[in-house]
Amino acid sequence: DPATQTTQPAPDPDRVASIKEMSRNHVFTSWSAQGGLDQLPLAGGEGAHFWDFEGNRYLDLTSQLVNVNIGYQHPKLVAAIQQAAGELATIAPGFDSQSRADAARMISERAPEGMSKVFFTNSGAEAVENAIRLARLHTGRHKLLAAYRSYHGATHGAISLTGEARRLGSEPSIPGVVHFWGPYLYRSSFHATTEQEESERALEHLRQTVQFEGPDRIAAIILESVVGSNGILVPPPGYLEGVRALCDEHGIMLIADEVMAGFARTGQWFAIQNWDVRPDLITFAKGVNSGYIPLGGVVISDEIAETFTERPYPGGLTYSGHALACASAVASMQIMEDEGILEHVRDLGERVIGPGLQALTEHSVVGDVRGLGMFWALELVSDKETREPLGAAEMAKIGRACKDAGVWPLIMANRIHVVPPCVITEDEAKQAIEVIGNALAGLT
Ligand code: PMP
Repeated sequence: DPATQTTQPAPDPDRVASIKEMSRNHVFTSWSAQGGLDQLPLAGGEGAHFWDFEGNRYLDLTSQLVNVNIGYQHPKLVAAIQQAAGELATIAPGFDSQSRADAARMISERAPEGMSKVFFTNSGAEAVENAIRLARLHTGRHKLLAAYRSYHGATHGAISLTGEARRLGSEPSIPGVVHFWGPYLYRSSFHATTEQEESERALEHLRQTVQFEGPDRIAAIILESVVGSNGILVPPPGYLEGVRALCDEHGIMLIADEVMAGFARTGQWFAIQNWDVRPDLITFAKGVNSGYIPLGGVVISDEIAETFTERPYPGGLTYSGHALACASAVASMQIMEDEGILEHVRDLGERVIGPGLQALTEHSVVGDVRGLGMFWALELVSDKETREPLGAAEMAKIGRACKDAGVWPLIMANRIHVVPPCVITEDEAKQAIEVIGNALAGLT
């Protein structure tokens, strides 16, 4: 197939050295001290594997940054991008385009009822920025409530909403942001011991936060339908329904940030569809086209869209609805449907990955296992009683053992996130779990 190159190149140490040297000298890298960086140059990939220029091939449990949902170098997606580039590579948002119209229609058809419009961005952070702006303009209010255990992006508004430590380097935050504690039973902020207690107490805490912040000043509550970077926290039964009811009571917009959880990751188009809850805005990116071309956006409720029927929306981007990016989203959604990827994620998650990871609790360091679909985390502890997080040295040792066995894990603090491309096969998933198990066993 001329569209894709899926043979692994012969080992080429000179090329590796040259890429590393140029990167060290010229690339300013995200979230890193720039001195002494040593990152692995990648050469290619296929399905759930990627490879380097040194003859190594890895089964990928990261999906890059949890975005390559349909896997590496999918021939149909590569071909669709090549074809779209040949037809019309780029146009301004002030013109209509076939691919933007198709992508918007297909996304809204897959979203919850009553969300017919889509605003396109280039990234998740920009999606969050525009969701904030839409909620503020629609409600005429300014405050925004966001969870401490969250990541929403690195632009100023999105990093202000972000509750974890990555926010601190960008303070002072935008005005009006208030953080709250979401549910996390394993390390409950509410001394809860059951899912039901955690759900009820987290809701009561949020209700009090809303009360003390002044409900009529709050534009939106933003949350990740399933918390991603901060630990794969699946909300307990009743929580999202309760947040929805609280928002309805006070005219507050509910923003579901699905930049990481959307587009098959949890076995649904949108993770919120695992519950009977309709948000007012959904942010997406990553899995919408598996990141082959930068693309994000906001799905907008009909009520909010109505606000801007006469009144202009004061926001935009040169590349909003980029022709190539939208064409890749159309092809990607079609591939997910044709290949039954949502069903595959649900099936493998329930039957193989979930039970396989749960069984790893036999190891003394596995404190908690949680997730759904192809969105899982193992939380590791040095002591199951005290739940003391496992140290960085042990985590690094586990990471090395997995890589030596040809599996590339996603290590975040004291957790192993298991978020493979959604096309991972049953045999590959079993291999990954076995390799993780061996790495855990190798600790002692
Ligand atoms: N929201 C969530 C939930 C995310 O996981 C991320 C990225 N990891 C973002 C927003 C920001 O997306 P981007 O990096 O594309 O700006």
